[in-house]
Amino acid sequence: MSIDREFFRKLLLDKKRELLRNLLKEAELAEKAGEEWAEPKDIEDLARLTYEELSRYTLAEHELNLIKEIEIALKKIDSGEYGVCERCGARINPERLKIIPWTRYCARCSKGIGGGL
Ligand SMILES: [Zn+2]
Repeated sequence: MSIDREFFRKLLLDKKRELLRNLLKEAELAEKAGEEWAEPKDIEDLARLTYEELSRYTLAEHELNLIKEIEIALKKIDSGEYGVCERCGARINPERLKIIPWTRYCARCSKGIGGGL
């Protein structure tokens, strides 16, 4: 049972776009936006921004963390490590990955850690 990498890559990128859209909205509302945010960019441009670039803006911490996790997951897809629990090395159930595609841990380890990931 191998993981459909392209499926999860798309899932992660979609989630990243959704987060960026929210961040953009927040930035506009808060008027914290600099020049770059003042003119709404194409969402595809935003999706290319990395966590480092985004962290220059004072944006919601939760969303930024999630974007970071998504980027880590995307790198893992490229390197072939995606879907393997960082703690115990077991394969993460694809059903779990569909719900939380950026998770680093299998369900059992996640419970042990007590985190939401
Ligand atoms: Zn595990």
